[in-house]
Amino acid sequence: MVQAVVGANWGDEGKGKITDMLAEKADIVVRFQGGANAGHTIVNNYGKFALHTLPSGVFYGHTTSIIGNGVALNIPVLFSEIRGLTDRSVPMPKILISDRAQIVMSYHILFDQYEEERLAGKSFGSTKSGIAPFYSDKYAKIGFQVSELFDEERLVEKVQRVCEIKNVQLEHLYHKPTLVPEEILAELKRYREMVEPFVCDTSAYLYEAIQAGKNILLEGQLGSLKDPDHGIYPMVTSSSTLAAYGAIGAGIPPYEIKKIITVCKAYSSAVGAGAFVSEIFGDEADELRKRGGDGGEYGATTGRPRRMGWFDCVASRYGCRIQGTTDVAFTVLDVLGYLDEIPVCVGYEIDGEVTTDFPTTAKLEKAKPVLKVLPGWKTDIRGIRKYEELPENCRNYIEFIEQQIGFPITMVSNGPGRKDIIYR
Ligand code: GDP
Repeated sequence: MVQAVVGANWGDEGKGKITDMLAEKADIVVRFQGGANAGHTIVNNYGKFALHTLPSGVFYGHTTSIIGNGVALNIPVLFSEIRGLTDRSVPMPKILISDRAQIVMSYHILFDQYEEERLAGKSFGSTKSGIAPFYSDKYAKIGFQVSELFDEERLVEKVQRVCEIKNVQLEHLYHKPTLVPEEILAELKRYREMVEPFVCDTSAYLYEAIQAGKNILLEGQLGSLKDPDHGIYPMVTSSSTLAAYGAIGAGIPPYEIKKIITVCKAYSSAVGAGAFVSEIFGDEADELRKRGGDGGEYGATTGRPRRMGWFDCVASRYGCRIQGTTDVAFTVLDVLGYLDEIPVCVGYEIDGEVTTDFPTTAKLEKAKPVLKVLPGWKTDIRGIRKYEELPENCRNYIEFIEQQIGFPITMVSNGPGRKDIIYR
């Protein structure tokens, strides 16, 4: 069976923890989109890890980890991540890299930086990992696919062609040093040596696995609201963050995705620019940021402080719908135990009218939150394993949100560890 684990919001919902937990019963975990621009934080018996490119199944000896064709593959980052695990006694994971994945080049990262510099104050809040230039090149058909590394004649020709285009921009738009074809070719050859042992036709591998009844997890990065089509365009990422894209980014039939587990955090956080209706500021935000996640809400890749807000029912209902949610995993609920009262955003006021439908960006930017205040439970709920044992106000909070978003919350996460989970 194929299941997807995806985010309902702006990312950082705790997908890594849920995937790591579900991976116990998975044969294969696949990353199907995104790159090393975001991270999953995982806490398990080996310690605390931030993964950026590796699927969250790498800690189990029995799982195969696949970097799907939809991923922006940064090869040096992937290898330093693998080293980061093996250096800390995690056994070398079994990794397969799609021969159709494309490669993040060093110049993609430079272009990201140059563009942010050029835009100055008007930047999109990029993590400068080269993701936007990478996907732009993929769709402009000037990207390098892993398979192309193994055909030197074509590679030489393509490097020339790519450098010609890039150098016009570098010289005239950014006024920066131009690319030297020989250096780009050398970079690609280095990458070839590194990835060669791991490369295969992963869609064929997955097809066989599906026929054999294996358990497969598709792991998404970021969340619905960062999807280029359905998110808060243009403050979005450059690859689809939706479960549906799992079929494409992994190369499997869409009808094989039987379960879509959408991860929703019990409050909101976001990184980068863009409308964030239920955002809070000042001491209130600092307190939640400090207590949030596991050791505070700071970017797993960048260390940037995350923007904080109350739970947003409008955004989450939309985020769950667009994912095609079958199950909601409601995470980081334990963190809210310090609050006397917990505001929840139940509607948006736009030009004097209240709506519960998530609007397109221009309208979203005008939206003001309509808040409903729920009573807090003022206790530490970590360690609780049975739903009935949660404080009444805590259950009321969960049930109120479930009714607002309209999708079943089947898992409640009350701590960062694998065992901190309550099934309903
Ligand atoms: P992801 O990108 O969606 O995987 O999310 P992140 O890894 O950026 O953020 C989730 C953070 O919350 C990590 O530090 C996790 O260890 C932590 N976390 C996940 N679930 C829970 C939970 O239920 N309670 C607490 N306190 N922390 C959690």
